[in-house]
Amino acid sequence: MTDRKRMMLRRAANIIWTNECPVCHKLLEWDELLCEDCSNKLDITDLKLCPVCSKQTCLDHTTLKFSRVYARCLYEDSVVNAIYELKNGLTLNLAEYAAKELSLQMKEDGTARQIDLVTSVPMHFLKKQDKNINDADKLAKFFSSELDKPCDLKLLGKRRTRTVQHRLTAAQRKENAERSFFILPKHADITGKTLLLCDDVYTTGSTLNTCAGLLLEMGADEVICAAIATTRLEHERDKKTD
Ligand SMILES: [Zn+2]
Ligand SMILES: [Zn+2]
Repeated sequence: MTDRKRMMLRRAANIIWTNECPVCHKLLEWDELLCEDCSNKLDITDLKLCPVCSKQTCLDHTTLKFSRVYARCLYEDSVVNAIYELKNGLTLNLAEYAAKELSLQMKEDGTARQIDLVTSVPMHFLKKQDKNINDADKLAKFFSSELDKPCDLKLLGKRRTRTVQHRLTAAQRKENAERSFFILPKHADITGKTLLLCDDVYTTGSTLNTCAGLLLEMGADEVICAAIATTRLEHERDKKTD
C-alpha cells in the first residue's frame, strides 16, 4: 500500500475509531503513531547495544547466520502489553512506528540500499485463522513500503508445535526453532539477494538465526534482521523454565 493510501485510510478510520498511543493509550491525532513521551521513553540509543546483535551482553557472533539485527525498543514494561495488543490485531501503530524509525536508520547508514527483498518469520497457518494476526508479516509490509522494496511472505513455513517458545531455556529454544521452520516448496528464487527478515520480538536469536540459516540455504547472499523489540539477555538467563 502506498503511503498516501495508508494516510487516507487512517484518516477515514479515525472518524469511526479513536487513535490511541499503543503504549500509554493517550489519545493521538489521526496521523500520529505513538505519543512523543513514549517515543522518547522507548529510545534505546543510550543503552549502547551491540550494533551487530542488538544486545547489551553479546550473543556469540560466530554462531550468527544473520549479519545484524535492528531493534527499536526493549521488550519491557508497557511494550509487552503493546505487542500483545498488536498480535491480537487491536492496533498496528507500534509495528508501523518501528518500521518507520528503523527504515530511517537503515537509510542513514546505507543498509537500505543493500536490501533487495523483505520477508518475515512465519506463523503456523492455523494460528493465523485464530484471532491472532502475524504481526511479523505486518511489520514486513510496513518495511517494504518504507524502504520501497518488494515483500515476499511465501519463503518459509512453520510447523505446529505444542511448545511455547518463551517458556524454554536458550538451548531448548534453539532446538525447538530448528524443528519448527522449513523452506516452502515452490518459493521464489532468492539467489544472490540480500533479505530483510522481520519479527516482532527478538529474544535469544534462535528464531531469527534458524530462519536466516534457511534463507541462506535457499541461496540468499545475506540476511539482515529487524525486530520491534529486543530483550535484555540477562533477564532471559535468570528466567526459570516451567
Ligand atoms: Zn504514549
Ligand atoms: Zn553483539
